[in-house]
Amino acid sequence: MRLIIFGGTFDPPHNAHTEILNSIKLLKNDRVIVLPNFIPPHKDAQATSQDRLNMCKLAFNRYEVSDYEIEKGGQSYTYKTLQYFKELYSLDKYSLIYIIGADSMKDLKNWGQPHLLADLATYYIIKRPHYDNVEQDIQEFKDLYGGNFVLSDFIGQDISSTEIRLKNAFGAIDDLVPENVAQYISEKDLYKRYKAITAMYSKLELPKKRIDHILSVALTALKLGYIYKVNSENIILAALIHDIGKSLNLKKAYNLGLAISHETIELPAVCRHADFGAEIARRFFEINDEDILNAIKYHTTGRANMSKLEKIIFLADYIEPARKTPKLEPIIQTAQYDLDKAVEMTLKKTMDYLLDKNFEITPAMKNAYEFYKKENASGTKRTST
Ligand code: FE
Ligand code: FE
Repeated sequence: MRLIIFGGTFDPPHNAHTEILNSIKLLKNDRVIVLPNFIPPHKDAQATSQDRLNMCKLAFNRYEVSDYEIEKGGQSYTYKTLQYFKELYSLDKYSLIYIIGADSMKDLKNWGQPHLLADLATYYIIKRPHYDNVEQDIQEFKDLYGGNFVLSDFIGQDISSTEIRLKNAFGAIDDLVPENVAQYISEKDLYKRYKAITAMYSKLELPKKRIDHILSVALTALKLGYIYKVNSENIILAALIHDIGKSLNLKKAYNLGLAISHETIELPAVCRHADFGAEIARRFFEINDEDILNAIKYHTTGRANMSKLEKIIFLADYIEPARKTPKLEPIIQTAQYDLDKAVEMTLKKTMDYLLDKNFEITPAMKNAYEFYKKENASGTKRTST
């Protein structure tokens, strides 16, 4: 018999996951085990281990779902799990098969005990769209530790559980997860932190077009976040709230009970919504992380010396595809490898537009532009971007 293990966080399991298993040509005696891993309760995963396990049982109802790692608790080490199943079923490295995505293949050498991993199992690697370095990653691992690898022909769909948690807040996951999983998420009201935010949009009179823009900003920002390694949770919170105050004026903001400073009142009216957003984040969603609050507050004007999160929200707000701003391609391209340069280009384009229309340019924006122009010209850029 061959034992094929499909491990993951599955928060939630989605169609790309089920398609991976369906793509594998099973032999008569093959046995498949789906293995959700344990995650400490406070971590990024937002469904409990029990809920993730239940959702796996729904999504993979044709296969066995194991609670081995969840029951064991603590940090999951793949080599320990493989040792357990190897002994349980007397398997060798050719009959124990472990499925991993191409993105994880890149990190395999950094997992616990890579030399043991190489001896325990055969790794069946699922290609990912937009990631074509997988052959080199395999060779690199082999040169270090040996091992047996099979590269699948199947290319997994480009959907992630993070995006599903986000889209769930917009009621838009039906074609991304199996029907029974969508139902489970809805019945148990999972991933509700984001939903609490989107539920406020109608109360604050955001039109449909603005809501579409917000989702598009979040998705665009998430992609940049993967490149620059910024926490997805922070990106989503900042993106969801950045324009939440867009339909408020000063009077409505007072009526909501927001604390409004002199600085906010002095801003041009079109910029005030960013300050309202930061106040709403603090007051209604108990967000106290200064980085998230600043990303919301400075998304319209930018400012000098922004954090990676601030730059990503600022850029995503400008380049997201739903907005259809013309001639964005150079900025979009640059954003893939140089955040500071893309920020400078965006500031320049925005300031040219404002000058042309005779609109006011705020000091924060002027300072931001001078800062990034100098920074990018100096050639001694900090590598933090
Ligand atoms: Fe805005
Ligand atoms: Fe916006």
